[in-house]
Amino acid sequence: MKSFDALILGAGPAGLTAALYLVRGGMSTALVEKGAPGGQVLSTAEIENYPGFPKGIKGWELADMFSAHLDEYPVERLRGEIVSLEIPAQEGGWFEARFAEDGESVRARSVIVCTGAHHRALGAPGEDRFTGRGVSYCAVCDGNFYRGKNVAVVGGGNSALEEALYLARIVDKVYLIHRREGFRGSKVYVDKIAAMPDKIELVTSHVIDEIRGGENMDAIAVRHVGSGKTRVIPVEGLFIYVGMQPLSGFLPAALDMDAQGFVRTDAEMRTNLPGLFAAGDVRAKLCRQVSSAVGDGATAATAALSYLERMNG
Ligand code: NAP
Repeated sequence: MKSFDALILGAGPAGLTAALYLVRGGMSTALVEKGAPGGQVLSTAEIENYPGFPKGIKGWELADMFSAHLDEYPVERLRGEIVSLEIPAQEGGWFEARFAEDGESVRARSVIVCTGAHHRALGAPGEDRFTGRGVSYCAVCDGNFYRGKNVAVVGGGNSALEEALYLARIVDKVYLIHRREGFRGSKVYVDKIAAMPDKIELVTSHVIDEIRGGENMDAIAVRHVGSGKTRVIPVEGLFIYVGMQPLSGFLPAALDMDAQGFVRTDAEMRTNLPGLFAAGDVRAKLCRQVSSAVGDGATAATAALSYLERMNG
């Protein structure tokens, strides 16, 4: 079995940064990548709030730059999905992570969980049936299919606002459905949306009762939460952005997580289990940004370095 000082699970901004810091700290380091490096950054069209890019940068370009930076160092990059993580019997022992594909395992003295989160389902009738046939969770991946057509976006956070703006550049019209009047997302996006009422129609204080269609979806039935008045909006696509769900189901039961499965850490990214750290969107926290994921990754790696130095005496 391959053994490392540090094993990093997930190759988004948090994992790529943690790997960079650990390998530069002289630790034998492995990074497990499920998909292409970059994580959620890859499905973000334009990143406007990562410092150093005043004109914004495409998500895939930033992901490529992060990954290329790590290529300069001898990090072992392992492809696959980890399905279980065994914790050591005592502090300083080995963690063992098992891969889905072949049941093979790797072990490490410390582990940093950077597996991130994915978009939550809405739970509306018709959602499962029309997923891939109108319903999507990724505007960058699927937006192009709706060129010149009408689509809806549901949600009121930064993801929904950002993706509504992205889609407005491609499609004929976007209906932005949100269950309240006020938006959770940044004012800069709310203002941009308000400035283009012909392109993005706000359907606030409405919920989606049903997604309708035949072979493919062709409409959503929405209801005003106050009056109960219903309306059918003909759209060929629905992009769902109603929050994130952590990818933490494979982690040991002894690990402290919140009710939604986000991993609890202290300010140094230490979990309740010695030698196990978490960074990025999988962590219970308020701010989920590329910049905060990078910061988490650096902090977790620094804490892991001091743990490893203490264990190595
Ligand atoms: P989020 O901030 O948690 O927002 C989720 C939105 O979905 C909320 O507006 C919520 O409504 C709504 N919602 C939740 N459940 C719903 C349901 N069952 N039916 C209808 N609406 C529902 O999630 P997010 O937008 O995916 O963002 C996740 C994190 O990533 C946030 O921290 C966000 O700031 C960050 N992010 C940042 C950027 C950026 O800075 N450029 C871009 C993307 C994401 P309520 O408001 O009523 O609760």
